[in-house]
Amino acid sequence: MPGEILDGTATAAAIYDRLTAEVGEFLAKYGRRPLLATVLVGDDPASHTYVKMKANRCREVGMLSRRIELPEATTTEELVATITSLSADLEVDGILLQHPVPPQIDERAAFEAIAPGKDVDGVTRTSFAMMSFDEGGFRSATPGGILALLDAYEVPISGRHAVVVGRSAILGRPVGMLLLARDATVTFCHSRTPDLAEQVARADIIVAAVGRPELIKGEWIKPGAVVVDAGYNPGNVGDVEYEAARRHASLITPVPGGVGPMTIATLLDQTMRAAEAHQTQSDRPLVGSLAGEVR
Ligand code: NAP
Repeated sequence: MPGEILDGTATAAAIYDRLTAEVGEFLAKYGRRPLLATVLVGDDPASHTYVKMKANRCREVGMLSRRIELPEATTTEELVATITSLSADLEVDGILLQHPVPPQIDERAAFEAIAPGKDVDGVTRTSFAMMSFDEGGFRSATPGGILALLDAYEVPISGRHAVVVGRSAILGRPVGMLLLARDATVTFCHSRTPDLAEQVARADIIVAAVGRPELIKGEWIKPGAVVVDAGYNPGNVGDVEYEAARRHASLITPVPGGVGPMTIATLLDQTMRAAEAHQTQSDRPLVGSLAGEVR
């Protein structure tokens, strides 16, 4: 029997319903709406689409979004100055810097200009450390979404062997740390791993986070394993050979409709948490001008 689907679209929809209610309560209580600032550098069409999707979702749940677009030739100093000013702006609850940025920019320096309390995409060193030590803080959005999806389907994590393929700062590494914090035994694989098939075959939970179409073959999957495919390649193809893997897996994410929707849901969920935290800080004035129409 083929594995069941880990449905990210349906799980994200339930999160949006909850957030819509929470934004309504927040507005009634504080007279303003949570605000997410998005920063986009350059002309990459895919990045423009992603930022637009995020703004649309904000509007749907009743949040505000403020879109900052900077030219392709922006320097690190200019980007850091923009983000620093958003970090200090009392109207802004969360900041998202759309990845990737043009090559002349030091992306790490730009990420670190995000105030930890506004790091709703979970990209700063502070967020990574807090997440790794299981001390709260904001989760890297895609890894946070993956954990939320596994939890929605009550996938047991503690004591299971998780194999994460990929070790990027925004995906592979943080998802591994989240699984470790939940008491999984975690193996990281990357481009220098010589025996990928053997490693994957030992996994109870596989997270594919590479960006290579169908790198992970269906026949490698242990019967009954849970497969999470975060890869997104041209033609709506993931990093896992989907149909073949589904014959072995107990649960598997489709591409699209698996991890992708959960990323934006996590971003908005964390923006809501940031707004609540900002509002309950005693020194924060009410910002009445934000109570109006959703932008
Ligand atoms: P990345 O920064 O390019 O990292 C790719 C990772 O894969 C690296 O750690 C690399 O190893 C490893 N790798 C490359 N070739 C490999 C091979 N043959 N065997 C094993 N490992 C290999 O990519 P990323 O930003 O993490 O993104 C990965 C994928 O996830 C992409 O398809 C991206 O589009 C997708 N993604 C989806 C979402 C979403 O919301 N759904 C969000 C972010 C990313 P080294 O470290 O050794 O180079």
